This record gives sequence, C-alpha cells and structure tokens, in this order.
Amino acid sequence: MNNIREINVKEITEAVASMCIEVNHNLSEDMRCALDDAFNKESSELGKQILDQLKQNLVIAKEEMIPICQDTGMAVVFMEIGQEVHFEGGNLEDAINEGVRKGYVEGFLRKSVVDDPIIRNNTKDNTPAVIHYSVVPGDKVKITISPKGFGSENMSKVYMLKPADGIEGVKNAILSAVKDAGPNACPPMVIGVGIGGTFEKCALMSKHALTRKAGTHSDVPYIKELEEEMLEKINALEIGPAGLGGSVTAMAVNIESYPTHIAGLPVAVNICCHVNRHIERVI
Ligand code: SF4
Repeated sequence: MNNIREINVKEITEAVASMCIEVNHNLSEDMRCALDDAFNKESSELGKQILDQLKQNLVIAKEEMIPICQDTGMAVVFMEIGQEVHFEGGNLEDAINEGVRKGYVEGFLRKSVVDDPIIRNNTKDNTPAVIHYSVVPGDKVKITISPKGFGSENMSKVYMLKPADGIEGVKNAILSAVKDAGPNACPPMVIGVGIGGTFEKCALMSKHALTRKAGTHSDVPYIKELEEEMLEKINALEIGPAGLGGSVTAMAVNIESYPTHIAGLPVAVNICCHVNRHIERVI
C-alpha cells in the first residue's frame, strides 16, 4: 500500500513567505500575554513606562503593518517532516529560501544577511535562512519560523561544563550569560537553554526552546522547577526593561535537555529580546 503524500514545494514557498511577513508584524499571543504580565508585575515607574511603550509598539506594528523591530532578523526555520511525505516540483531547500526571499522583499522587511562572514556583501533578500530539518512519523510538515535579531543573539553563550559542576554549575552559567548580556539584549528577555547532548546539540536545543510558548513549562519535573527558579533569580538581577533597572529582566526561561556523554555537561544559553518572534504552520 502506498501511503506517500505528495506536497509541491511551491506550497512550502508560499507558506514561508506569508509566515515571514506575519511573524515580523504580529507578535504571537503567548508573547503578548507575557508582556502584559511583565507590565503588571513591574515595580519601577520607568520600567512600567518602557513596557507600556513596547505594548503600544505592538499595536502600531499590527494595525499599520510596520515591523515590530527594525531588526527583522535572520530567518531560522525548523522543518519537521513526516516520513510519509514526498516533495515534488523542485528542491525543498531552494523552496524554503525562495519563501524567505519573497517574504522579506515583498514585505519590505530589512535585509540583514551577508553572503560571507568576512567579505560581508548583503545578499539583499535576507537569504539564506538557517534551516534545521527533522524527520518525524506521519504525513504532515510542520514549519516553525523564528527570525532572530542579533542584539540578543550576540550575547548568547555555550559552556562546556564538567559533570562535577552539576546543577549549580548550570544555574551559574545561565545567570552569568544573562548578567553579561545586560541591556545589550534588549530586555525584558526570553532565555532559551539547552542542557546536555554535544556542543552543537545543546546550542540547537537552546534555539528551539525559544520557540516554545512563553508561560508553558517542561514536562520534566526538575527542569520545570529549574525554569521557575531561574526566572526568579534572573529577575532579582534587576537589569529591568531596556536595562534601566526594574523587577522584570526576563519574561520566560525555556529549557530543553538531552542525554549526554559521561565526561561532559554542555549548556547553551540562547538569549532573545522582548521581540521573541515565532510562528508555526502545519501543512
Ligand atoms: S535584539 Fe530584538 S529588540 Fe533588540 S534590535 Fe534586535 S530584534 Fe530588535
């Protein structure tokens, strides 16, 4: 029996293009709620004023179709591809990049990508995207797009801890990355953390963790506790909105974990600003 589902890659291009435009103008509901929550919790007057301006900015961005931030990011795309799917009509990776090009050019979004890290010519269409593929059961394709601004990306870190550093070492790593980021990461921040795996696996988990809805928690009981404890500790740093002091430095800490080697304890901290853009679509 043939269970293969055919998907034309043009459908992927169209989906990616419209998602790039949508995600840069309309912050997801979880992040809007997180910002409302931050406004209600903030104790400093100045902090409250800044959060109020950020909330107003979201309204203007949505109503007047102006990007939420001038840095419309490098497009990070997670593709979860059902193993019963067969793509037709061209190369999948080309189709994803064509969607990014179409979205950023037709949506008048800032083009922030250079063709080479040293030679640095702007590609003028925000391609290529950074694409992560995984193959999953089923016949659907889930696309998650998370345009990443580099004010906060530049403050992110990977720590190769030793097993003896244990959970206290992990807590110190997270706190020290956030302290170093300070106002440069455009707080209030969302903190993505990856614990375990290898050097690259923990970095990838920390990026993926940022796409999880703010306000939700890990299913692993001790990780959930760690998320709550770290959010409290980060907010006690009083970096505050825009780094001008206050009780809300971060709105969420999202942690993913994975088995690791007997000799290591990798930890990655991917810092995101208050514009933690993420959007999903299932085809
Ligand atoms: S870090 Fe975020 S808020 Fe700051 S400039 Fe970049 S995208 Fe905008």
